[in-house]
Amino acid sequence: MRGGFGGLSAAQALKSAPVDLTLIDRNNYHLFQPLLYQVATGSLSAGEIAAPLCSVLSRQKNARVLLGTVLDIDPLSKHVLVADGASFEYDWLIVAAGSHDSRALYCLRANGGNIHCL
Ligand SMILES: Cc1cc2nc3c(=O)[nH]c(=O)nc-3n(C[C@H](O)[C@H](O)[C@H](O)COP(=O)(O)OP(=O)(O)OC[C@H]3O[C@@H](n4cnc5c(N)ncnc54)[C@H](O)[C@@H]3O)c2cc1C
Repeated sequence: MRGGFGGLSAAQALKSAPVDLTLIDRNNYHLFQPLLYQVATGSLSAGEIAAPLCSVLSRQKNARVLLGTVLDIDPLSKHVLVADGASFEYDWLIVAAGSHDSRALYCLRANGGNIHCL
């Protein structure tokens, strides 16, 4: 999962679940996009609408945050491949990559993944 609204909401909703969560994002911060225009107009600084993901989830014991760009997902072997070459095995995967990067879904489709979209 990723550190936008979707990924963070999913992580927080699973706070009390008996699972180990790994949140992978290419940025180490959550960007509150609805306030971007206030940064553009100078009402807020960039730091006021971006929170470090580690801080947001610091009290959630079943969650860890990793910095990395996801390049590929293999639903058959259940692995996520990150740009630095690392590979992470998963039991269940939540993809919340926003509207800009839908490569992950294409990868899943290409590999015959079983996708449920919300
Ligand atoms: C200017 C602006 C104003 C908005 N105002 C509103 C509003 O008033 N109300 C409202 O409901 N919505 C608003 N939205 C829309 C809202 O911000 C989005 O709908 C929401 O952010 C989508 O959440 P998401 O989790 O799907 O994606 P995002 O919040 O975009 O999160 C996606 C995350 O995935 C990460 N990611 C993407 N690809 C990769 C990859 N390959 N590897 C690793 N990490 C990756 C990104 O770094 C990001 O953290 C606004 C958007 C903008 C741009």
